[in-house]
Amino acid sequence: MTDELDLLRRQAWINGEWTAALSGKTFNVTDPATGEVIVQVADLGPAETRAAIEAAQQALPGWRALSAHERSAILKRWHKLIMLHQVQLATLLSREQGKPLSEAKGEITYGAGFIEWFAEEGKRTYGETIPSPHSSRRLVTIKQPVGVVAAITPWNFPHAMITRKVGPALAAGCTVVLKPAAETPLSALALAVLAEEAGLPHGVLNIVTSSDAVAVGAELTQSEVVRKLSFTGSTGVGKLLMAQSAGTVKKLSLELGGNAPLLVFDDADLDSAVAGALAAKFRNSGQTCVCANRILVQAGIYDAFAARLTEAVAALKVGPATDSEAQQGPLISAAACRKVEEHIADALGKGARLLTGGSAHALGGRFWQPTVLADATPEMRIAHEETFGPVAPLFRFHTEQEAIALANNTESGLAAYFWTQNVQRAWRVAEALESGMVGINEGLISNEVVPFGGIKQSGLGREGSRYGIDDYLEVKYLCFGGI
Ligand code: ADP
Repeated sequence: MTDELDLLRRQAWINGEWTAALSGKTFNVTDPATGEVIVQVADLGPAETRAAIEAAQQALPGWRALSAHERSAILKRWHKLIMLHQVQLATLLSREQGKPLSEAKGEITYGAGFIEWFAEEGKRTYGETIPSPHSSRRLVTIKQPVGVVAAITPWNFPHAMITRKVGPALAAGCTVVLKPAAETPLSALALAVLAEEAGLPHGVLNIVTSSDAVAVGAELTQSEVVRKLSFTGSTGVGKLLMAQSAGTVKKLSLELGGNAPLLVFDDADLDSAVAGALAAKFRNSGQTCVCANRILVQAGIYDAFAARLTEAVAALKVGPATDSEAQQGPLISAAACRKVEEHIADALGKGARLLTGGSAHALGGRFWQPTVLADATPEMRIAHEETFGPVAPLFRFHTEQEAIALANNTESGLAAYFWTQNVQRAWRVAEALESGMVGINEGLISNEVVPFGGIKQSGLGREGSRYGIDDYLEVKYLCFGGI
C-alpha cells in the first residue's frame, strides 16, 4: 500500500510522465494556516499545455474504444484506492487548503463518490429507437463521448471539484486535460498517482500545474482539439472562458458563483433552522459557492433566531487542521481576508449591528473570527457580492412575498435554503425561488446522486446524478433508409 510520501508530487502529469516545466520554473504551494511553503510545483506554460492536449488526443481513440464495463472497472479500482488512502489524501488536502481534517475526510468520501457513481452511470448511456414517419426507414440515436475535455477547477474543494468532472468525462469515454487551482495542486497530483495505480492508460488524464491561469486557459480554449470545457470558479472568469470558447464553439459546463439566500419563516423549527444555517453558512469557513450568503429572517422569529445563531457561532472553534477540535480553518489567502473585512466594514458603515466576531482572529495570519451581523439591508455590498468567508448577515422580512422578492433579487441562482413547517408554503416557496437547488429544512444538500448546478448567471449544466454524464456525451442520430 502506498504511504503518504508516495502521494506527494511536485511535477505535472502529462502522458503518464511526471513532467517539469520546460523553463524549469516552479511556484510555491503554501499552508494557509501558517503561510509556510509546503513544496514547489512545476510551473507549466502554453507549450506544455499543448503537449497535454496532444497526449489527450492520442489517448482518445483507445479509451473511447473500450467498453463502458472496461472503463468502469478501472474507475472502480481508482475509487477503491482513493478510499484506501482517504486519511493521507485528507491530510494533504487540509495542508494545502486549510479546512479541518474532518471536513477534508468528508470531501474525499464525497469526491470519490462521483467516480463510483459515474463508473456505473457510464454503463447506462442509452440511445433511443424513434418511431419513424416513413415505413422504409428506421431511426435511432446513439450517444458518443464529446472527445478531449478541458477541466479548470478551484481551490475550495481541491479533490471533489476534480472528481465530479473527471469521473463522468472518463466514464463517457472522453480524455481530459485538467488545470487545478495554483493554490491546491497537490490533491490533484495525488489523484493522478492513484489513477496510475488503478491502471488508467497514459494520456487519458493529464494534469497541467501552472501559476499562469490566463496563458493555460487561452491554450485550452483556443484549441480545436478540445471539444468541451468544464469550469468551476468565479462568475467573472467563467464569462471570460465562455467568450474565449466562442471561437471554437465548445460545449460548456460552468459552475459559477452563488449568492444563496437562506430564509427562516416564523413557523420554522428554531433548532433545525439554527443548525442548518450554521452548516450552510460556515462550512469550509464560508468558502463554498453554495454557502448561505444572505440570511433572511421573518420579523416574528428574528430576535430569537439571531440570539441562538450568535451563541452557536461564537462557540465555533477556530484553528489549524492539525487541531483535531477545529471547526473553522483559515481563509485561503490574505485577499480573501481583505474581502471579508471590507464587507463587514461596509455593512457596519451602513447601519448593521455586530452580534459576534467582526475582526481578524487572535491566531493571526489568515484566521478570521466567525461573524454574525444583524440589521443587514439590500444597500450593503454583502447583499450583492459573494463574501466567501465566515460572515452571516441577517436581513429582516415581514411577508412571504417580500422574502421571495428579496431572495430572487440577485444575478445568481445556484442554491437557496428555507425553513418552514407549513407544507403548502414549502411547495410555494420552493417553486418560486430562482435557483438550481433548494434545501427545505436542510442546509447540506449536495452528493453524487443529485444534480448540482445553477440557473441565471450561476452557470450551465449539471454535475452529479444521472444528468451529469450528459454533458460529456453527444447524441448522434442514425437514419437507416431503403428498408
Ligand atoms: P477563485 O476566485 O475562487 O480563485 P477563480 O475563478 O479565479 O476563482 O479560479 C478558479 C479556477 O480558474 C482556478 O483554477 C484558476 O487558476 C482559474 N483561472 C483564473 N483565471 C483564469 C483565466 N483567465 N483563464 C483560465 N483559468 C483561470
